[in-house]
Amino acid sequence: MNLFVANWKMNLLRPDAQKYSEALGRRIGKGPLEVELVVAPSFTLLDAARDRAGRWSLAAQNVASESEGAYTGEVSASMLADAGCRYVIVGHSERRRLFAEDGPMLERKLARCREKGLIPIYCVGETEAERAAGQSTAVLTRQVETLAHDPQEAPLVLAYEPVWAIGTRKAATAEDCRIACLHLRQLLPRRPILRILYGGSVTPGNASEILTNAGVDGFLIGGASLDPGSFAAIAGLP
Ligand code: PEP
Repeated sequence: MNLFVANWKMNLLRPDAQKYSEALGRRIGKGPLEVELVVAPSFTLLDAARDRAGRWSLAAQNVASESEGAYTGEVSASMLADAGCRYVIVGHSERRRLFAEDGPMLERKLARCREKGLIPIYCVGETEAERAAGQSTAVLTRQVETLAHDPQEAPLVLAYEPVWAIGTRKAATAEDCRIACLHLRQLLPRRPILRILYGGSVTPGNASEILTNAGVDGFLIGGASLDPGSFAAIAGLP
């Protein structure tokens, strides 16, 4: 089943989240969903973004690298599980770039997720400069090494998010995604439950072409997911 994740980033307040949930719920209705939907709000909005009817699940946008203790401002994996999260976004390029999250730290975050049964949505992707230097596949290989100690049998979601495509209105082509996706699958041949998403300027206008031709299992969506109608359209809801 294809997976569509709405990454709200640091946007919306509780009344907005409430309205969003109502609108998305109306759009889905009661019918059986043929796709899996996930909403990733800020920590403070987790409750307002929850669907009591269980038609979408929750992801956190980040998790602490330590389990508990004197880490002011951090939110632990057990707190996220307790708040009803099923997934956690780990290693988003904004966290790598703006908050200096590196391989060893991300490895600890992945381990914390596994201890609490949270499924990581692990983000990888090259920058514009790395792409220009022909290093795209080498960057993906290096970022996937962070998964070396992650249990192979556990479900994993990878998000291929080229940094140059995030928030730029310059989505990767289906061919770019296909090549990256193939490389990622070759790097992780023994993963029984692996889904690969694409993320980067996905809109209702380009979603179906990428989904049909890139070999991805869905999308991680930033800007366009802030509108429940566009999120639903990208997910192909009627
Ligand atoms: C993201 O930040 O994960 C993302 C894909 O953003 P956007 O869709 O806005 O490019």
